[in-house]
Amino acid sequence: MQTSTKHILDTPIQFLKGVATSRASILNTDLQIFTFKDLLTHFPFRHEDRSKFYPIGQLTEDFPAVYIRGTLSNVQLQGEGSKKRLTAILQDATGMVELVWFQGIKWIQPKMATGREYVVFGKPNMFGRKFNISHPEIDLAESYKPTEYALHPVYNISQKMRNVGFDSKQIAGLVKNLLETIGDQLIENLPEELVRKYNFISRKEAFHNFHFPRSLDLLKKATARLKFEELFFIQLKLLRKKQTQKANFSGQIFQKADLLTTFYKEHLPFDLTNAQKRVVKEIYHDFRTGRQMNRLLQGDVGSGKTIVAFICMLLAIDNGAQACLMAPTEILADQHFNGLQVYAKSLGITIAKLTGSSKTSERRTIHEYLKSGELKILVGTHALIEDVVQFENLGLCIIDEQHRFGVAQRAKLWQKRSKSEYPHVLVMTATPIPRTLAMTLYGDLDVSVIDELPAGRKPIQTSHRYETSRLAVFGFLKKQIEEGRQVYIVYPLIEESETLDYKNLMDGYESVCRAFPDVPVSIVHGKMKAAEKDYEMQRFVRAETKIMVATTVIEVGVNVPNASVMLIENAEKFGLSQLHQLRGRVGRGADQSYCILMSGYKISAEGRIRLNTMVETNNGFDISEMDLKLRGPGDLSGTQQSGVVDLKLTDLAKDQRILQEARQTAQEILQTDPTFSKPENLPLKQYLEQNAPKNQEWEKIS
Ligand code: ADP
Ligand code: MG
Repeated sequence: MQTSTKHILDTPIQFLKGVATSRASILNTDLQIFTFKDLLTHFPFRHEDRSKFYPIGQLTEDFPAVYIRGTLSNVQLQGEGSKKRLTAILQDATGMVELVWFQGIKWIQPKMATGREYVVFGKPNMFGRKFNISHPEIDLAESYKPTEYALHPVYNISQKMRNVGFDSKQIAGLVKNLLETIGDQLIENLPEELVRKYNFISRKEAFHNFHFPRSLDLLKKATARLKFEELFFIQLKLLRKKQTQKANFSGQIFQKADLLTTFYKEHLPFDLTNAQKRVVKEIYHDFRTGRQMNRLLQGDVGSGKTIVAFICMLLAIDNGAQACLMAPTEILADQHFNGLQVYAKSLGITIAKLTGSSKTSERRTIHEYLKSGELKILVGTHALIEDVVQFENLGLCIIDEQHRFGVAQRAKLWQKRSKSEYPHVLVMTATPIPRTLAMTLYGDLDVSVIDELPAGRKPIQTSHRYETSRLAVFGFLKKQIEEGRQVYIVYPLIEESETLDYKNLMDGYESVCRAFPDVPVSIVHGKMKAAEKDYEMQRFVRAETKIMVATTVIEVGVNVPNASVMLIENAEKFGLSQLHQLRGRVGRGADQSYCILMSGYKISAEGRIRLNTMVETNNGFDISEMDLKLRGPGDLSGTQQSGVVDLKLTDLAKDQRILQEARQTAQEILQTDPTFSKPENLPLKQYLEQNAPKNQEWEKIS
């Protein structure tokens, strides 16, 4: 039994048998493998069937990687510099195939002896009219031992590792050493009853059979168990965090709602949608529990989150607290401020804006009035979290477009409490997140959804047009502009080639200016200074310019109700959620709005699905589900929430059922035994303690 607090899995990787110092450092840098545990969970991304040899004469291009066996000849170094390669011929009674190496030549070459028999494993490719296999594994036939495993693991390795001859097979060797070293210390971490209920194989067996399956059936069982485990512990942690927060962090009680009643009766400019009403009710309920609210408000672009935010602020203010709203950019902070100011003024509520460009004298006044409590609402950017900004009594923090803010920044807002209670937190996002992803990313937050657009809004008409219809498309834009509308034309931004993008955009801008000689055109792109961008944006907002040519910098939150057309160039190059965000820039006024997706004829199958999806639906949740299916959650979470979830095995697009089961199970356990003090839950307790994050503080916040 393990007695010290340090578990064997925390052992640094250089202490594993077979890991030399140089290997340890490349494992650190290239695969982020630092400890035994990291290697244990460096799962193979597929397995190969090595149970038999194939006759070379039978190989076709459709074969996966296979075993062949034959005599080696014609070992040659060919080409120079970057074209340098090592080739050889392998021949058996049925045919011959060329073997090629471009990298790691100096490691391979000494192993090659003409005339001897070898066992080779690799994927056959057609090259001209001949077959070849590039970068096969190769071993002398006499040293080849058939293994007890039917399926062989294939591990990710980096290019650099390939260059030094550190391949998947060697990783497999290390994993084997590791499993031997750990032995029986890979202890069960699920309660026995759970293991029985789901008919899981033991934890130890699962790891062994995931790396080195003894049969296909065992591989499936190992996969089922490890996937469940991965999601189960994420959910357990998130739900426990939520529970702790609810239990330990009190929040101010906002019971009084007189201001809100006045606002409803006298100033509300429209009827709230049912979805808005429901969300307000949910939040008002949170405000009366005496517990800190941590709520995510999801609502598609244009669904009316701002008014909901204002209503929440009213409740806070009516009960003697202050509220703040933080937006990710200055433009957005401006728009929020302008929108909220109208409502605030109607009720005589003090409101101010604080951004990076606020003047010193302004700042000083704001700081003073905040501290004294005279200022009730503060809207702004990151400037809000500076230490000098102190509230008399901050009761509610609203954070818009949250994925643009890091955990640390949100945490700093939290610290601004001036009472024993923490401020309530409402995080608003316009990026619809599929249910499964939301459960994983925000499993610790309560979620409200505005799933209905205000009445009378005409759905945006979306069409897909090819380059050949450009004249007609421009004709259409002209008509819209003549009718007093405004137009966006957006160019893609591909990070790999900024100069190319820029050129693309500038060419586009010039051709737009030529096609619309009498129309004032704005341009906004990433290379401009913030002030220049702002200036151009403001001109467009004031309708001084009619066309806005831009890169995706306008993606987020900008509100110009008079803009009725969103034309997206090279639309096939955009991701789905990005297309949807862009489309959300129009359709904000009473007029019919249009989204036109321009593309060439050459589109990938996936690109076509994206464009068709856009044409077919306006529903952000449907779109995000499709996006998840196409891209996988890695991308979604990567861009927005890097580091929040690290899924090694599960695929949220495919493993929804497992996620639901895992969450359900976690919930049940927490309900009956929140501190894991029942003997049957001891494995959970031990496992969580062992895997507790190093920095407990961060756990609490977010
Ligand atoms: P988003 O959710 O994208 O932030 P906004 O709050 O900016 O949406 O609202 C978009 C537009 O819809 C605004 O002009 C707002 O005044 C209007 N709006 C919001 N709620 C309603 C409603 N219930 N009825 C009519 N118009 C509404
Ligand atoms: Mg908004």
